[in-house]
Amino acid sequence: MKTYLPPKFVVERDDSRCIRCEVCVNQCTFDVNSYDIEDDEIKSREENCVGCHRCVVFCPTEALTVRRNPLDYRENYNWRPEVIEDIIKQSETGGVLLTGMGNDKSYRIYWDHLVLNASQVTNPSIDPLREPMELTTYLGQKPDRVEFSSVGLKTELAPQVKLEVPVMFSAMSYGAVSLNVQESLARAATEMGTLWNTGEGGLHPKLYKYGDNTTVQVASGRFGVHPEYLDVARIVEIKIGQGAKPGIGGHLPGEKVSAEVAMTRMIPRGTDALSPAPQHDIYSIEDLSQLVYALKEATNYTKPVAVKIAAVHNSAAIASGMVRAGADIIVLDGLRGATGAAPKIIRDNVGIPIELALASVDDRLRQEGIRNQASVVIAGGIRNSGDVAKAIALGADAVYIATAALVALGCTVCQQCHTGKCAWGICTTDLWLTKRVNPDIGARRLSNLLRGWSLELKDILGGMGINALESLRGNRLHLRGVGLTDTELEILGVRMAGS
Ligand code: SF4
Ligand code: SF4
Repeated sequence: MKTYLPPKFVVERDDSRCIRCEVCVNQCTFDVNSYDIEDDEIKSREENCVGCHRCVVFCPTEALTVRRNPLDYRENYNWRPEVIEDIIKQSETGGVLLTGMGNDKSYRIYWDHLVLNASQVTNPSIDPLREPMELTTYLGQKPDRVEFSSVGLKTELAPQVKLEVPVMFSAMSYGAVSLNVQESLARAATEMGTLWNTGEGGLHPKLYKYGDNTTVQVASGRFGVHPEYLDVARIVEIKIGQGAKPGIGGHLPGEKVSAEVAMTRMIPRGTDALSPAPQHDIYSIEDLSQLVYALKEATNYTKPVAVKIAAVHNSAAIASGMVRAGADIIVLDGLRGATGAAPKIIRDNVGIPIELALASVDDRLRQEGIRNQASVVIAGGIRNSGDVAKAIALGADAVYIATAALVALGCTVCQQCHTGKCAWGICTTDLWLTKRVNPDIGARRLSNLLRGWSLELKDILGGMGINALESLRGNRLHLRGVGLTDTELEILGVRMAGS
C-alpha cells in the first residue's frame, strides 16, 4: 500500500565535500543511504529517516545535514501534524501505535517553574573548592531516634545502602538494551559509588561481579529471578508499574530474544517475553506485603526491598500502603519516564508529572509520621543536576536517571527503541549493532556525567550556604515557584518567588 506519510526529515549532502566513503551507508540502520555505482553518488530515501543523526556525527567530511522537513500541513490547532500522521499510520497498519522513550508532550515541566535559593550577606555561601561538601546518601528504613549504650549504638538499624552521589541508573533490562550498555552502566555505577538496575530481564553472568552496585528487579514476568540473582544484589526492587506505561505490561518481541537474552531471562530463545500488566499474586497491600517479606526472608533481611510504581492520581495513598507493607524504598516513576517500547496512546496520556507525585507522597508520609520508614526515589525525566537538587529539596532521597544516561552513550532520543534497530547500538540485541557501544568508553562517559553533576550539586549547595545534601532534603524553603497557580504551589508546598 502506498503510504500517505511525507518524510519527516530532509537529508542534505554537500556533494563538494562527499568523498563517497559510504560511512553513512554503513552507519544507518534504517536503510536511508545507499551508494549508486552508476551515478557515483550517495542517495537518500528520506522517508526512512528517523532523525537519529548517527550519519551526521560519523561523516568524516561533515558533508551531511539532517533537518526537519519544512513541508507542513495547513495550520490547525486541533488537527496537528502528529495527530494526522498517527491516523494515517493506523489506517495503513490497523494496529496499536508503538513508540520508544518518554512522553514528549507539552505538559508542564515543573522543574522549569521552580528556582533554588542562594545565600547573600546574612548566611554566607561556602566555597566547595575549599570546604568539604557531603553528597553521601543512605537508602533504607531509618529509625525515628537512636539510642546508645555504653558500648555504642543500641538501636538496631535496618539494612542501608550508601550512595556517594544521589543519582542511580534506572531499570533498563537486558534485551531492551544491549549487554554492552548494561556493562557500561554497571562499571560507571561501581566507579562512582552508586547503583545500576537490571530491569526485569535478569542478570547476565558476566555482570555478577558488579553485584554490590546492582539493584535487581522482580517484575510480573519473574524473568531471570532465582536465589543467586537475589543474593548478589544490593537492593531488590519489586516493579509494580512504570511511568511510561502505567497499568500496562511489557513485551520484548521474540526477535530481540537472542540466545544470551533467553539464557539470562530463563525463557526459550526467540519467544516473545510478555510481562503481564499486574503481578498476578498482588491484588492488595497485604499481598504486596507478603512478597516484600518473602524477598526479605529469601535474602536473610540483609538488603532493602524497594517497590516501584508509576506516578498516578492516588500515588500518595498507595505509597502510604507500600510503606506499611514493609517497603524500605518507594520508587515513583513519573509521566516522562522512558521505555524501550510502549503503546503511544498510553505513554502520552496516562500518569502524572513526577514533581506533583513526589510532593504529595512526601507530604502524606510526613503527615502519617512514617516518612523515616522508607526512602523515596524518583524517576522520569531528570535532565541535569538542577533537577536533582530541586527533587531533593521537594523531598526525594535520590533520583534515577535513564534517558540522560543513554544520551551520554550517544542516544539522540529519536524514539525508535521499539524497532530494535537503534543506530547507536543502545536499544538493540543485534550483535553487529551492539558493538557500537564500547563498555570502556561507555563507562567513562557515564562516570563523567555523574562526576559533572556531583560537582554542580556541590556548587549549588555551597551557594546556599549548606555543606551537606542532608540539609537540603525535603527543605522546600529552599525552593520558590515561578509562573505557577495557587493550586500548583499548594500541591508542591512551595511559596511564590518574591514571597
Ligand atoms: S559519510 Fe559523508 S563523506 Fe562519506 S559517503 Fe556519506 S556523506 Fe559522503
Ligand atoms: S536508544 Fe537508540 S533508538 Fe532509542 S531513542 Fe536513543 S538513539 Fe533512538
